[in-house]
Amino acid sequence: MLGFWYKEFPQYPKDHKDFWRTRLIAHFLLITTSYFLVLTLLNLFYFASYKIALIDAFGLFISLGIYTWFNKTANVNIAAWAVTLMIVSLILMFVISVGGHAHSLFWATLIPPFTFFLVGRNWGSIFSAVAFSVCVYLVYLQQQQTITIGLGSLFNLIEVSLAHILIFRFYEKTRFSAYQHLATRNIEIQHLAETDKLTGLYNRQKFDSELSQLIAENEKSETSYFLLVCDIDHFKNVNDTYGHLVGDRVLSEFANILKDKLPPNTLIARWGGEEFTIILAEKSLTDATTQANQLKKYIKENPVANIPITISIGVTHIKFDSTVLNTLDQADKALYTAKKNGRNLVYVSDNNTISAYQDSIKQPNISSVNI
Ligand code: GH3
Ligand code: MG
Ligand code: MG
Repeated sequence: MLGFWYKEFPQYPKDHKDFWRTRLIAHFLLITTSYFLVLTLLNLFYFASYKIALIDAFGLFISLGIYTWFNKTANVNIAAWAVTLMIVSLILMFVISVGGHAHSLFWATLIPPFTFFLVGRNWGSIFSAVAFSVCVYLVYLQQQQTITIGLGSLFNLIEVSLAHILIFRFYEKTRFSAYQHLATRNIEIQHLAETDKLTGLYNRQKFDSELSQLIAENEKSETSYFLLVCDIDHFKNVNDTYGHLVGDRVLSEFANILKDKLPPNTLIARWGGEEFTIILAEKSLTDATTQANQLKKYIKENPVANIPITISIGVTHIKFDSTVLNTLDQADKALYTAKKNGRNLVYVSDNNTISAYQDSIKQPNISSVNI
């Protein structure tokens, strides 16, 4: 039975702006159908109030009719209007028919929460204003009258209070669900905005912002950080010889090697094309350069995605009194020298002096040039 009532509408998935309106329409019509059925029977056979029983039977007929039609057409806008007109006219008919007595006016307080949600702010305001004007008029007519509070008043109070609790519970659920959805989406969007699609590494924007933050915080930090700019040698030839798709595979596989071979706390980014930037936490420039050299050696000895390649690396110290541009420029100059001197090399830029890393003595020295 509930399965029939809460039919899934594929055109209104959970993140569709009208999803919660379809739910409110279904909730509302299920409650009114059952409610009017019970009330019709009660008023007919227990209270013998035939006039009210007639209104209830009318409500039952309209509720079922709207839901059957909505189930078939899935037209939310028309269903929302039908439900709105139904709820406003039934409540007003009821309060007018009992002259606003027996706390019936409480029913009018249900008009704003329903109409605002179903037909929007403007129409919600209009319907609410009409409903409250009718209430004010009925109270005006009641002046000087003696009012008796009976069982009907108690029922009205209980029913309206229950309806309020249910509707605000529903609204809180929609609010919670919308915020949760937004929070998940924000995380996904942020991840997309800072990630390179091909390699899954950080992109240039994210890297630059991380580097900037590191420079700002570096003064207080006890760890030393080093920047490596790493470029695949003659990568154009890889594309020209094996095709762009193979080139992509090399880039992606190379990124995996970087993640695998470098220490876990290393920040790795694809800065552009076949150029990768790395922030290493090491004790000294010598240690950072040794790490760069091991990487260069590994790549030379192990084909990447079955393609033999080599890399050149420029290394520099990240100093707290420097800037992002200056730090990148230092490493870039070292990389440029490595390229100029034959590739498959590691060069270090330290205090504006560029020197080659020497495998044999494991120290950065010789062929130093001042820049
Ligand atoms: P060098 O040793 O001087 O760095 O030479 P290179 O050929 O590696 O450098 P160059 O700057 O001349 O060429 C870089 C090439 O990288 C050209 C470009 O097509 C290729 N490239 C850049 N981005 C991508 C990418 O996303 N996928 C592929 N397959 N190739 C790319
Ligand atoms: Mg290159
Ligand atoms: Mg390049």
